[in-house]
Amino acid sequence: MNATVSESPVVEKVLEGSRINAAEAIELYHLPLADLGQLADYRRQLAKAKAFGGRGNEIVTYIVDRNINYTNVCNVYCKFCAFYRTERDDDHYVLSLDQIDNKIDELVSIGGIQILMQGGHNPKLGIDYYLDLLNHIREKYPQVNIHAFSPPEFNHFAEVFRMPVSEIILKFKEAGLGSIPGGGGEILVDKVRNRIAPLKCSSDQWLHVMEIAHNLGLNSSATMMFGHVESIEDRIEHLERLRQAQDKTGGYTAFICWTFQPENTLLKATPVGSAEYLRTQALARIYLDNFENIQSSWVTQGTRIGQIALRYGANDFGSVMMEENVVSSAGTSYRVTREEIELLVSEAGYEPRTRNNWYELV
Ligand code: SF4
Repeated sequence: MNATVSESPVVEKVLEGSRINAAEAIELYHLPLADLGQLADYRRQLAKAKAFGGRGNEIVTYIVDRNINYTNVCNVYCKFCAFYRTERDDDHYVLSLDQIDNKIDELVSIGGIQILMQGGHNPKLGIDYYLDLLNHIREKYPQVNIHAFSPPEFNHFAEVFRMPVSEIILKFKEAGLGSIPGGGGEILVDKVRNRIAPLKCSSDQWLHVMEIAHNLGLNSSATMMFGHVESIEDRIEHLERLRQAQDKTGGYTAFICWTFQPENTLLKATPVGSAEYLRTQALARIYLDNFENIQSSWVTQGTRIGQIALRYGANDFGSVMMEENVVSSAGTSYRVTREEIELLVSEAGYEPRTRNNWYELV
């Protein structure tokens, strides 16, 4: 880091571990990429030192889980989405319990401990479908954490079931729901959401579902999908809203950001490159000073950038992810095995360790 950069007041603040504001985040955003990476790496060390007894930067975690997309029928038609189908499409589906069991059997056979289950907003599925599904999985696979249903899905359930979100989350929790994925966050700024997903829940609704879930004892992750129509200021506002929400509940376990993948979607936007991804993730690590874990996004960026992202604030390599349907529908299809993750993490100079959904080493 050259002297001009290291003497800047905002860099001093980052090195002191102090909280930065939106204007300072813009300043950091314009730093040379390598310098920003160094600062993010330092803040990662600060965030993780407590968890690993002073070994802040040595360990990189990952989880063995799989995605299950229980239905692709959806009436939200997000412009960035290549996954959804209507009932008129020949390839629309709702998975049966047998099909879901087969997927979980495969996961369990490689030592997997979690399913990430999300789907389209299918108006034909009532509350009994979900409760049966959760009860069934919990009884048959008690060792598997059910990480399922993003905030937009909960808002959709509230409309279809005509029930408050809090009641639905409570019923789902009793039936086996273990935690909530941060899907559908995109950019938590309504003017952006209205352009890319006008029928999806608002920023306030997204955050409100998470607040309710945290207060009912369920943890969640948070996400950001960027590089489409939003500005840098919008990305920072997104981070600001998450930071405030985390100050309130402390219920977010991790943050994951990825770049918009345009293939087969209606959204006309030029995708951003890997440097922009690394810059944004590094900024998120510094801004989100109350988030302990940041996941690198090799699914959209590829494994090599996923490795480099570990030097730009990330401390987690995500998951083995035996199956991925949403991002791959939009043209990206990176896959890795458990052995490859271990190799990629070791090659980057870290000790690979498996974790559970709560980022405890297992
Ligand atoms: S992103 Fe989700 S809510 Fe939007 S169209 Fe795709 S499946 Fe539906």
